[in-house]
Amino acid sequence: MFTVVIGGGPAGMISAYFKAINGHEVALIERNEKLGKKLYITGKGRCNVTNDCEVEDFLANVVTNSKFLTGIARRFSPSDFMAFLSKKVKLKTERGRRVYPMSDKASDIIACLESYLNDAGVRVFLNERVKNLIIEESQVKGVVTEKRKIFCDEVIVCTGGASYPLTGSSGDGYKFARQAGHIVEDIRPALVGINLKGEVFKKLQGVSLKNVGITVKRGEKIIFEDFGEMMFTHFGISGPIVLTASSFLNKISLNDLAIFVDLKPALSFEQLDDRLLRDFDKYKNKQIKNSLNDLLIKSLIPVIIEESGVDGETKNNELCKADRKKLLSAIKSLMFKPLSLRGVEEAIVTSGGVNVKEIDPKTMQSKKVKGLYFAGEVIDVDALTGGYNITIAACTAYAAGNA
Ligand SMILES: Cc1cc2nc3c(=O)[nH]c(=O)nc-3n(C[C@H](O)[C@H](O)[C@H](O)COP(=O)(O)OP(=O)(O)OC[C@H]3O[C@@H](n4cnc5c(N)ncnc54)[C@H](O)[C@@H]3O)c2cc1C
Repeated sequence: MFTVVIGGGPAGMISAYFKAINGHEVALIERNEKLGKKLYITGKGRCNVTNDCEVEDFLANVVTNSKFLTGIARRFSPSDFMAFLSKKVKLKTERGRRVYPMSDKASDIIACLESYLNDAGVRVFLNERVKNLIIEESQVKGVVTEKRKIFCDEVIVCTGGASYPLTGSSGDGYKFARQAGHIVEDIRPALVGINLKGEVFKKLQGVSLKNVGITVKRGEKIIFEDFGEMMFTHFGISGPIVLTASSFLNKISLNDLAIFVDLKPALSFEQLDDRLLRDFDKYKNKQIKNSLNDLLIKSLIPVIIEESGVDGETKNNELCKADRKKLLSAIKSLMFKPLSLRGVEEAIVTSGGVNVKEIDPKTMQSKKVKGLYFAGEVIDVDALTGGYNITIAACTAYAAGNA
């Protein structure tokens, strides 16, 4: 049996390796000049390759189609993936059970996967882009590249999603899937920043906040809540909790949504009021604008005062209770209106892709075309940050490679 694997990301490399050790002749076709171009930039160059967690925790962090992955992740769990990598690269586990190469170099993960390809005798063809599949009578027969036709018995599509297209993942796999008659679910950005309406955020550009809460609401209905780090940018907001929020906001209309930032989530309204009164006492007779330095970082103070509608020139011992409440409200729920998510090309992952109902979860084989398989981000699955997305690539690749 001769298998062609399209795409040399983690899904392509892992599925090629397993196919080859299962006795197939395997050719891995990659359009770039090297393998794993996206892997190289993952985890800010350190590659958060997986998460040292149970299968249930992994599935809980999958946002789209976790059910589809249940059996797949049990057959090649995060710990199986760690054991697989550990044979060739030293790993370490950090906060949030995030697993990285000991060296902090993503290139070590790429080298590990390349070494597996080498061991198994996979033939790698670089600088070659697949343009089409060859399909006859619902059976895959080969691929057409920019250079030639390659006839084979099986094709595994591991072309990734549509995010960070400069790394090679520009959505070709969706075209192949459509060619095979598959439904491709709408492509949406996931784990991406949020453009905001208005001007307020511009005054905060460059400000990073730790230990803050965000709540996204439509009217009184809470759509999303989280706690952690975020930052203000030239377009709006980004950072860990915002990226997470985006994965839940990408399938709904952003009209009428409001994002509330709680700058002091550890303090209740009453506790914050007590704290404010203590600070006012400490800075007796000072203006409000000069009384908040202990509570807030400098760049936030004018924004909070403006948003509260309180006159910052007022002396703190002259501030009435109603105005103090306004100040507290601005600190506990600084409001922003989302405009849109940033584009898919900036997204850490792509949500949407090849519909999972048309793929057999045991083998990753297409239910439409025999001999055609899909693995990795090209499928309509996506997860939160924490090493879960590369783990999706790994476990789907394992299933395809052992089909
Ligand atoms: C900035 C950034 C940071 C990230 N950090 C993390 C992280 O720390 N942890 C984590 O779990 N996930 C992370 N991710 C997500 C993770 O990188 C992807 O989910 C994962 O790489 C998907 O693997 P894949 O093999 O399916 O696709 P890809 O890694 O995108 O690989 C697809 C490959 O197919 C090739 N290809 C495409 N079309 C063709 C064609 N027509 N012919 C030949 N070759 C083709 C591409 O060139 C590419 O090499 C990050 C993503 C980004 C953008």
